[in-house]
Amino acid sequence: MILCHHYYIERFETLERNKILENHLIINTCPVCKGEKFKPSIAVPDWLVSNETFNIVACESCDFRFIENAPLPENAGKYYETEEYVEHSDTKKGLVNIIYHFARKRMMKYKQRLISDVTIGKKLLDIGSGSGYFLNYMKNQNYNVTGVEISDKAVKLCKEKYDITAFSPTQLINGEISESFDVVTMWHVFEHVYSYDEYFERLHSGLSDNGTLIIAMPNHQCFEASYYGKYWNGYDTPRHLWHFVPDTFRRFVEARGFKLVKMKKLPLDPFYNSMISASYKKRFTFLPFTFFIGLISWFMALFSFQKSSSIVYFLQKK
Ligand SMILES: [Zn+2]
Repeated sequence: MILCHHYYIERFETLERNKILENHLIINTCPVCKGEKFKPSIAVPDWLVSNETFNIVACESCDFRFIENAPLPENAGKYYETEEYVEHSDTKKGLVNIIYHFARKRMMKYKQRLISDVTIGKKLLDIGSGSGYFLNYMKNQNYNVTGVEISDKAVKLCKEKYDITAFSPTQLINGEISESFDVVTMWHVFEHVYSYDEYFERLHSGLSDNGTLIIAMPNHQCFEASYYGKYWNGYDTPRHLWHFVPDTFRRFVEARGFKLVKMKKLPLDPFYNSMISASYKKRFTFLPFTFFIGLISWFMALFSFQKSSSIVYFLQKK
């Protein structure tokens, strides 16, 4: 299990507060600027699994947002135990999943183009590879592919279905993947990672000198995040720990031996987010309406990149 160095409870003075938070991870140093003062940003219930409420705070000096009371890494597993966590499943139940699977197919081509635009080599590592759908797509485009996946079930499925090897995150962190890669991808995965420093160290050594690290994450500055508020699926508490935006992510990676060389958006995400967020809100789930909200968000991001629903960050070693 991934461990984290940040469980301090000193920041919380009252016994009562400690009691509430004793089973949670307390982060008292900003991962971006090392600031130690945070203000409440938004309280977000876990709509998917537990219905527990989690607080997102903002660093007073750099405005980086993160979850204040995340589950301890060793207890995080139970918050992923749902069939509805479609990112990790291949089931096709319900209209939402049907649209998700259709969109996923379209996205493969888009992602492949993003990758082939920046890399010459064909050695690809995908972290959070799930049951291997994306890796298999890339394998069919003549990439030499490897995965990293936390779920044993998905690792097994990936091998059986596509004959692709996926390692566990522990094997990655322990340096058991000895090869070096031309491109490493993390599609909506890094915001789930507790031990971000270990990952960055490992990826720095595991990436070839001209290699590219591609990290896609939701962006809370988008229109549909402000429209849906605590229902916005990009918050996805307590599974999403970190809420980066371009400014904070640039600072974050530069302190860890990388430079941010390019950013792109994922064009279908405003529509997908709007649909999922509306289903959490259980009002206005009427599809043309959610599509309309998605369209406003998509349109606004055309004029202001900072308002993109998701951002794909391209990093290279300094
Ligand atoms: Zn900060």
